[in-house]
This record gives sequence, C-alpha cells and structure tokens, in this order.
Amino acid sequence: MEKQGKRNFSGKKYQGKQTDSNKGKKSGEMNKFRERNMSREMKNSGGMNEPGREKNGSAIAGQKAKPEQRKDAGKPVQKKKSVCPAFEKCGGCQLLDVPYEKQVKKKEKQLQEQLRSFGRLEPFIAMENPLHYRHKVKATFGRDQKGNIISGNYREGTHYLVPVDNCLLENEKADAIIRTVRGLLKSFKIKTYDEDTDYGLLRHVMVRVGHATGEIMVILVLASPVLPSKNNFVKALRKEHPEITTVVINVNDKRTSMVLGEKKEQVIYGPGFILDRLCGKTFKISPKSFYQVNPVQTEKLYGKAIEYAGLTGKEKVLDAYCGTGTIGLIASDHAKEVIGVELNRDAVKDAVINARQNQVSNIQFYQNDAGVFMTELAEKNEKIDVVFMDPPRSGSNEEFLTSLLRLSPRKVVYVSCNPETLVRDLQFLTKHGYRMEKGVGVDMFPMTVHVETVVGLQRKNM
Ligand code: SAH
Repeated sequence: MEKQGKRNFSGKKYQGKQTDSNKGKKSGEMNKFRERNMSREMKNSGGMNEPGREKNGSAIAGQKAKPEQRKDAGKPVQKKKSVCPAFEKCGGCQLLDVPYEKQVKKKEKQLQEQLRSFGRLEPFIAMENPLHYRHKVKATFGRDQKGNIISGNYREGTHYLVPVDNCLLENEKADAIIRTVRGLLKSFKIKTYDEDTDYGLLRHVMVRVGHATGEIMVILVLASPVLPSKNNFVKALRKEHPEITTVVINVNDKRTSMVLGEKKEQVIYGPGFILDRLCGKTFKISPKSFYQVNPVQTEKLYGKAIEYAGLTGKEKVLDAYCGTGTIGLIASDHAKEVIGVELNRDAVKDAVINARQNQVSNIQFYQNDAGVFMTELAEKNEKIDVVFMDPPRSGSNEEFLTSLLRLSPRKVVYVSCNPETLVRDLQFLTKHGYRMEKGVGVDMFPMTVHVETVVGLQRKNM
C-alpha cells in the first residue's frame, strides 16, 4: 500500500486546503439528485392547520375501529376526518392515518418478504416518537385565490400550492419560523414570487435544525438577490426566534422546480452553516449539504452499520457514496484507515472539513464516481477489508459491483433507501461469493411508505 498522500487514483483527493467554501455552490446535479430521490430527502411533507390538534398524536398512533361503528352498515360511508387537513393533498406522507404500530408491522413484513431468501432480519427499528422528525423543512410561498399570502407544499406532481401551517412530520420550531416569516412579509413589503408571471421576490424558505446542538439555519430563497431592509428583517425574525443562529439568502432565478439555486449563498447573519452532532462526531451542515433528515433514527442506522462491520481497529475501510463523510468518520475510531468516495464535489469539501473539525487524521476523501474509483482500486490491487456502501435510490451499478468482487473485502455493509434496488444488488453479490449475515429495517421516514435498510454481508470463502 502506498503511503497516504502519494496515491494517484484519478479521483481528486481533498486534503484540507478548503476553508468553509462549501457554504454555497453545490452543483445543480445535487439538487437534481435530490429531486429524484425524494425518499432520502422527503421533500414534501404533510401539513395541518387546526391549532391544538397537532398534539393529538394518539389519534395517529391508536384508535382501533370500534365495534359500534358496524351499526352504520347500510348508511352512506363518511370518510374519517384525517388528523391533517392537507393529508392526501400535499403528498408528503402516505400513511399518516394508519396507526403507527400497523405501519411498522407492514414495513417489517414487506422487508421480510423481500429479504427472507438472503438471510436473517433483526427486529425492525421503529421510532419511539414518530412525529416532527424532519429537521430539514421547506415551504414554498405564494398567494391563494383571495390574494392572501400562503406557504406550504406543491401537491405532488403539480404546481398547485397546498397551504401547510403545522406539519406532523416537521420540526415544530422550523414550522413556527416559517409562519413568522410569512407574518413579516407584509410590513417589509416583500412580495411572494409568482411562477406564472415571474414577478415577486420570495420563493421558498428552508429551515435546517441541528438536533443535538439546537443551531438553526434559515435559508431565504429569492428570485433576485436584493432583500429590502435585510438587517431589520433578520432582527425582526430573531426577535421572535432568538434560537436562529444563521440566515442566508439563496438566489434561484430559474424557472425550475428545484428549491435552491446553484449560486453561492449570501450570508446575512451568523456563520452561514450550522453544526450538528451524530454518534459522537460533529458535522457541518451547509445550505445544500446532504444530511439525513431524521437525526434520531440516523444514529440508530449508523450504529447498526458500524456494528455489522465488526471493526477491530486494524481494518482498511472504504466508505462508498460517502456524502459529507458521516459513516466513514464514525467508523474511523474503530478502523486503521478509512477512504471515502463521493461524486458531489461540495459534499466532499464538507467531508474534509468534517474530518478536520473532528480531528480525524486516518481518513481521506476522493471526489469521483464510486464505480470508477473502485475499479482503479482493484487495478492497483489495493487491499480493502470492509466496504460501506450507501448508494442513492437507483442502487449501485455493475462497474461498482464487479470491482467490489475484485477487491473482495471481508465484509460489505450495504445501507439502502430502496429495497428494490437492494434486492437486485444482493442477488448479484450473493451469487458471487457473499452471503448476507443479517439485516435490519430502520424507520427513517414514519408516516411514509419509505424504508431504510442495513445489510451486513460476509465473504463466503473465509
Ligand atoms: N452516506 C452518506 C450519503 C448517502 S446519500 C450519508 O449517510 O449521509 C448517497 C450519496 O451518493 C450522495 O451523497 C450522492 O451525491 C452520492 N452519489 C450518487 N451517485 C454517485 C456515484 N456514482 N458515485 C459516487 N457517489 C455518488
């Protein structure tokens, strides 16, 4: 093995020259990627307008059908009122009206059916408090037919804006901040943007909340760069929500369904990013960084991934599709050396900063296509003991999987947000020398149909 810093894989190696330059310009590709991969980001989310009812969590988690209801037989069926007035309109959640225990059973059963033939599944990891888990929240601004300012989500697949005040999936502080922004617009004479006429200023507001740190970032997405009285606007916003630690302006002047524009953000308050802690490590979250939206369940997910890797401190580990380096950095305490590979340039920059922030010196990040990078590793006869792979919904590809076989790591830990592509890739790997040791489903997106899975694979000839 060549010494660190001397390798010449074609993946560009980032060694920490960057400062916090990742504050802004993540490529449009990433945004497109996000748009295509809603389950990771769960872009839309349900809403609810009736004050007070949001606390009624039991309405979701319980209420079996009572036998008396059968007396209604023959009478016109009245559809039960949903706990959320935007349910089935905004499209952010599909299972909100299904009791949570039922959702969990359904997801576990489905996963059992899909993975049974490969190996054993551990009990599904449900969420203890399955509401208000989204720590990244976005709202689109516009006007209703009467001209009132509204904020909410587009109905899935349309540009029809469904008003959302309190979403049962979203962080409550984030929702409150969005409501405050909406309330301030009139006095600051800020017009909401109208897609049809291309007139107006405010398009979206995105709020990102650090679960462990409590730090909060507000991203104002504008159609053009100038926010009138921006300092006073920040002052008024922070007067209501002193917990906001940074406010940035993102300009999106394209006719697009992407939320964030590609250009670097303008920081109008604070450092332009927030920090969060996960599994004992600190991570920097920039406006465009990929960071799992459900931090409580993410700790469990990553914990399982590390457990399945069975690291002893001697291994050389590859974190493929590493994003901002989360899994690799968490694994670095338990391994000799870690390398991370990720396609998105800005995510890699964040990963390097994260390594430095956590004083991790046994990790290197490369910006490259994971398959291309793996092929080069295999051609150089690199020895990799454990591979973590966390691909997008489309799963891995042939190049990656064939080079994985050539590298022949002792263990592969597959983190998947799409059981279908997971099954496809497992079929390949189990036909070619690997067996599934165990797996587990983690409910990262309660109230939705999406499931996250971790699978531990072991090389057979050991
Ligand atoms: N492991 C990270 C990120 C997972 S999301 C975490 O848990 O936060 C999947 C990541 O794969 C994204 O960051 C995306 O940019 C990256 N990606 C997508 N296609 C890729 C490819 N062909 N090669 C390398 N990385 C890719």
